[in-house]
Amino acid sequence: MAQAASKVEDKLYLNRYLVDAGRAHIKVRPHTKPSPQLLSLLKLCPAHCYEMNSTGQVEIATDGCVECGTCRVIAEPSGDIEWNYPRGGYGVLFKFG
Ligand code: SF4
Repeated sequence: MAQAASKVEDKLYLNRYLVDAGRAHIKVRPHTKPSPQLLSLLKLCPAHCYEMNSTGQVEIATDGCVECGTCRVIAEPSGDIEWNYPRGGYGVLFKFG
């Protein structure tokens, strides 16, 4: 019998994170109106780290970041974000094999 495919959200839930408090490894450049690149991250980040705030700017909460680099490819060249790996020992710990 075929096994049901698991959702990405289910697999992400298995990960563990060590948050480096006060040292976010990705920063969004301050802006008044988000660029198309920033807006695309609202849908493209697999961990849903990017959100629109109540005044229309894109913000990031890096706590659940899986370091896939998608946002780096899309928004770092335009200067919309600053992307670095977390310090050693911090960040995602993959648990699904
Ligand atoms: S590196 Fe991947 S998971 Fe982390 S914020 Fe960027 S798109 Fe999301």
